[in-house]
Amino acid sequence: MLTHSHLPTLTAANALVVPRICRHHDIYLAGYQSAMYKLAGSAGVESFPPFGSFGSRRACLEELVKQIAVLEEYVSTEGPYLLGANPSAADCAVLPTAVFWMRMLPMFEGMDVGAAMGPKLTKWWQFMTTKDQVGVKVTAEISGALDGWESSGRWAPVLGAGTRDSAPRTLFDKILAKEIGSDVVYEDEIVLAFRDINPVAPSHVLIIPKRRDGLTQLQHATPEHKALLGHMMAVAVPAVVKAEQLEAYRLVVNDGEQACQSVFHLHMHVIGGKDLSWPPGA
Ligand code: AMP
Repeated sequence: MLTHSHLPTLTAANALVVPRICRHHDIYLAGYQSAMYKLAGSAGVESFPPFGSFGSRRACLEELVKQIAVLEEYVSTEGPYLLGANPSAADCAVLPTAVFWMRMLPMFEGMDVGAAMGPKLTKWWQFMTTKDQVGVKVTAEISGALDGWESSGRWAPVLGAGTRDSAPRTLFDKILAKEIGSDVVYEDEIVLAFRDINPVAPSHVLIIPKRRDGLTQLQHATPEHKALLGHMMAVAVPAVVKAEQLEAYRLVVNDGEQACQSVFHLHMHVIGGKDLSWPPGA
């Protein structure tokens, strides 16, 4: 823990901001921190979401970035500490968490910690990690522990950390990028649903996630994909069924070459508009 034995008094105005920063830190920064390194389904609980009530790790990390930007607004312009010339409990609270986010947020594509920090926090970070004696010590201690995490492969199974989905792009990426046209039936932030080019029934729609996130096949799903899979089944399928005015339909996922999967980007076939036979085919 960061301790300064003889903390000089802050100005009255700055002292008022200390509890605000500490509370902001505890709820919105430390509170979302585990989304940077904890595995979904860890802590012995299959459904454990390290991203709390957010539907996905990415959504939680985006919020963390936003909350770092909010912290920037609380920081005084005077420096070098968060609230002026003297260190306070705010510096003690934020620095360890900042060591985590400076190290880990850049592992996640699109998390712009540099922009979130702003000039005041950036200057503070520089000062704390190079000039403030206690800050330098705390940073070194935590960084040493994180080096250990890194060398033991801590982030390898964490969805979205590094470049985990290195499987080749498929034609669905081209459809998503609109390089290839498609007949869209339903679309939201998470999925795209479009007509199959080779329909096996009057209505044949494919639902795909916009971010593949390692789901080349359904068998690569982890507890981390629950929100996405739930969204596909409970939001996108009903939307397609409604758009296609289907009274009955079949939902198909071909998982693997032997099961006739030809495009390795998870997709659900919604097939209907005629009487379907059973069993569904050899
Ligand atoms: P699967 O065989 O389960 O991997 O399903 C892939 C599906 O993508 C097949 O049913 C194809 O007919 C369909 N498909 C291939 N190319 C296109 C395209 N350009 N637009 C729409 N659907 C396509």
